[in-house]
Amino acid sequence: QYKKTQEYLLSLNEEQHKAALCSSPAVRVKAGPGSGKTRVVTARVAHLLSQGISSSGILVITFTNKASEELKERLGHLLGTNVAKDISTGTFHSVCARILRSYIEDLPGAKLKSDFTIFDRDDSDKVMRQVVDSFMGDTPAKEANKLAKEIVSAYSQMRNQHASLHDVKITSSHLDSCNSAAGLATKFRNLPNFFSEYTRLCRESNGLDFDDLLGVTVALLQKVPQAREELQQRWRHILVDEFQDTNSAQYHLVKLISPSSVSNGSVFVVGDPDQAIYEWRGANPENMENQFELDFKGCETMFLNCNYRSFAPILGAAEGVLSHGGMPKLHQPLMAVREGLGHVEHVHVEHEREEAGWVTSQIRQLKSKEGSKYEDIAVLYRTNLQSRSFEESLTSARIPFRVLGEKPFWQRSEIKDMTCYLRLTSNPSVDVVALNAIINTPSRGLGAKTLEKLQNVAEAQGVNLAQLLMGDMRKIPLLDKQTLEPLLAEVEMTKLLPDRTCDLLPDIGSTLSKEHQLKLNKEAIKGLKQLRALVLLARSTAYHRTVAGTVKVLELASGYRQSVEEGSQGDNAPKKLRNLDILHSVAGDPDSWASRDGDLRNTAKGFSSQDLISASGGTGRGLAEVEMLDGEERPLQSEPSPGMNSTAGGGVSGLGQLPWFLQHVSLMRELDELKDNAEAQQRVSLMTLHTSKGLEFRNVFFVGFEDGIVPLIRGQDEGARNLDEEKRLAYVGITRAMDRLYILTATKRSILGIPSQRKPATPSRYLKRLLLTGAGIKSTSTSSGQFSLHNNNDNDDNDNSPFRGRAKKEPSSRQGVRTVTSVGSAVKPGGFYDTRKENATITGTRGTGVSKG
Ligand code: ATP
Ligand code: MG
Repeated sequence: QYKKTQEYLLSLNEEQHKAALCSSPAVRVKAGPGSGKTRVVTARVAHLLSQGISSSGILVITFTNKASEELKERLGHLLGTNVAKDISTGTFHSVCARILRSYIEDLPGAKLKSDFTIFDRDDSDKVMRQVVDSFMGDTPAKEANKLAKEIVSAYSQMRNQHASLHDVKITSSHLDSCNSAAGLATKFRNLPNFFSEYTRLCRESNGLDFDDLLGVTVALLQKVPQAREELQQRWRHILVDEFQDTNSAQYHLVKLISPSSVSNGSVFVVGDPDQAIYEWRGANPENMENQFELDFKGCETMFLNCNYRSFAPILGAAEGVLSHGGMPKLHQPLMAVREGLGHVEHVHVEHEREEAGWVTSQIRQLKSKEGSKYEDIAVLYRTNLQSRSFEESLTSARIPFRVLGEKPFWQRSEIKDMTCYLRLTSNPSVDVVALNAIINTPSRGLGAKTLEKLQNVAEAQGVNLAQLLMGDMRKIPLLDKQTLEPLLAEVEMTKLLPDRTCDLLPDIGSTLSKEHQLKLNKEAIKGLKQLRALVLLARSTAYHRTVAGTVKVLELASGYRQSVEEGSQGDNAPKKLRNLDILHSVAGDPDSWASRDGDLRNTAKGFSSQDLISASGGTGRGLAEVEMLDGEERPLQSEPSPGMNSTAGGGVSGLGQLPWFLQHVSLMRELDELKDNAEAQQRVSLMTLHTSKGLEFRNVFFVGFEDGIVPLIRGQDEGARNLDEEKRLAYVGITRAMDRLYILTATKRSILGIPSQRKPATPSRYLKRLLLTGAGIKSTSTSSGQFSLHNNNDNDDNDNSPFRGRAKKEPSSRQGVRTVTSVGSAVKPGGFYDTRKENATITGTRGTGVSKG
């Protein structure tokens, strides 16, 4: 082990070595991306251990749990797992939780026991809702939920900045949005009361929220000297990665536990101010820049200047972005250690779907031609919303992937719930899984006890619950247009299921009650009526109208949307509502699902279900679900359907295109399974720029490199907000790439991936400088649309930009074909060129094979 450690230390360059071994009580390493900061942290731990420091005397704080695991793994390789496992590593939150488990009962007046529960955001919202109710009982549920969330997040923000409760002034525009509830403005003056009541309720249930973990630990260390001293004695060496993104509470904590007053201890922090990207969440890069030096006596600062990660053109591109509007002060340029050019390419496409298609086919090529592994490939985007196009495109190409930091779209709970409603609509008497999933979501009096009773009856009759409750659905005629239309209008208006729909069907609850002496309560009987009525209404809508219309009806008439709005479906209602909107839009855009697979699209236009089954290789898996009873397949209803050939398009079950949509969904889900089966590591990674921090990949696709996205501009905040953080975020993204970097822009885009919502897009203001400084960058275009790099936003650069070339308008031809034709470096219409490289390329537009230059 000792030998391994020595070898590892020898692999460091001189600067890194010096930093890792530095014996000053406080060390600050400021260095750019890929310069080996994290490696130095690891090396230092190994070095300390080799010097005889006990592993329990070392604390390493990382930014994510994953980073902690990685660090332990690396140390395990070096030192053996036994030694590595004793080292304390974790995020600030997990370290605090550990401290509090040991010491919290010592904190006077804390009223907390060491077996406290940690409340997540969801729990916090619920507690705050209680507070809102107790202070302002007359607030409507929806408003109260919204308000509760706002207060929780205000409180969180406040504590992240380590402000005291009394510093809070209730003047922020933050509160304007919740002032719509009557009387709120006056009642609101007492915000601190909300906070303290919230805290009281948390404490009453022995709970701490995430911010408490930090805040209470800081309070503990301030008020209980013994705890502080014991910890200072224990952790003699503290190391913190990504120090530029610590907030004040975290910084305080480091100060309090740091052993600087004790001899032979050290605090070692590494970070990069150019990569500070969490100010919006309360991080304060000043901690790294100036404060540390002031607070930690004898602080030594070190710099690392070599980049071991990326090829030179990639670093050039990154520096180009950073230089927009002027280089940050004190920025140290990076020198690439790796020899070679790698590959940087800017690709312009027509729209987001072509972007996803291009990336997917490029990934295929990287794998087949370059021998790249999936795990060496990452797709980075600014906002989570952008992931869906890639999820779908990769899914169709059967390329395994993982979405970091967020669930894949089709796995999000609200999407799964709505999908179950759709499945039940399609197959009411068969799909018992779907039925079980939503029978009481939202709650409709069909709780566990009632379900158990019903289940017993079903078992006694030898059928499943779906057959018991929905078995007759198949025979009930769908509503005709005249009956349906006014009902739909009512749903649209009231956002409820019209009561009279319930009377259109036999009352199965009462029948079962009578026949089996079930004693179902009134609520349950009504719930069953409503569910059945909903299914009838949805089936009729699917038949006469579109899939999107069906989605809407289900969402509203089931009460699901309302329950999301009220927060009954868990945290983050706005996000869930947006996801529901996306589902609705996707459903409303048959091209996006019917065209996923050429063969199946044909079948949707008139092939029989049998053809479909053979098209699937005989398995029938993932196919449109066909009503099957007693093993016999039959059409849902025999009467000819008037709507069939119009909007509905003629599906096998007589429910219009619904089965085809469900087929798309199940294919997506099937691929989710495929993802799970694939070797955990062998997947393409999709993530936001924020999540990519600290990671590296051989091949990086930086997608959506357009103004408004990179930098992200929300509504009116241009000018109001400091966009430097956005610039740094782009810098972080680019510097994740080791070998190949692809930057993608589109002519038009819908961030949600909904064709009808596409808007013209402009390349990012950072692109010009990126292309200028990243030597030898290739620009290609698959787009038939106009593309101009001329960008009014880039007002820090008033050269006579030769970038004002534009791609000639071409009739659209085969997607994804790109032709690159090398020409000299001259200003030509029809392409882009590199100003510095002789061998720069200009590209023709797609499909022609000829440069229009
Ligand atoms: P970031 O700012 O992005 O977090 P970083 O400064 O932490 O980057 P590391 O992740 O530690 O950089 O290192 C980047 C890559 O360079 C890693 O793959 C690491 O193993 C490699 N590396 C760093 N130093 C050396 C070295 N001296 N010899 C060989 N490889 C090195
Ligand atoms: Mg790092």
